[in-house]
Amino acid sequence: MMADEELPPGQPKATDPREIEVEQLAIRLLKGVFTKSTRPGAEREWGGVIYRQGPSARIGHTGPIEGDSSHHVDVGNAGSNFGCPSDASPVAWYHTHPVKFTYSVSNGVVTRIRMGWDVFEDGDLAISDGNNLIGYIIDPDKRIWRYRPPPGQMIEGKFTPDATAQGGWGPLND
Ligand SMILES: [Zn+2]
Repeated sequence: MMADEELPPGQPKATDPREIEVEQLAIRLLKGVFTKSTRPGAEREWGGVIYRQGPSARIGHTGPIEGDSSHHVDVGNAGSNFGCPSDASPVAWYHTHPVKFTYSVSNGVVTRIRMGWDVFEDGDLAISDGNNLIGYIIDPDKRIWRYRPPPGQMIEGKFTPDATAQGGWGPLND
């Protein structure tokens, strides 16, 4: 397990103009919801989806949606088109990781459990890799992270990453 502040290599910010637009919106939304998300004792994940809509491919977003705990938010992935308008295509999603630790009490013994605030795995990975969506996170230190899914192809209407390919993950450089 990594030490608390040992971070993976920094990722360069987006350079493609269309991706810059998406990334800047993700950063603005995440920084905007950070204080609400990290309220001491009431930490909640917040998140949503960024999409492009219509012939002009203008940018829009859902949320930020309040999660049900400090480690989960429902961004609409179970529903149709992530709750975006029907003529919209999701291109990225964003959510907060508000806590580094959680505590559990059993028989009066308090155990500190490290949260995966600096990893992109399980449900996060399933959303990005299953839908070809770039994922943006804000961590408890207000750092922005980006996950870029691996290349892949559409198979029977479902984005399927190439078997040996890996996504790119890390904090964004300033
Ligand atoms: Zn997450």
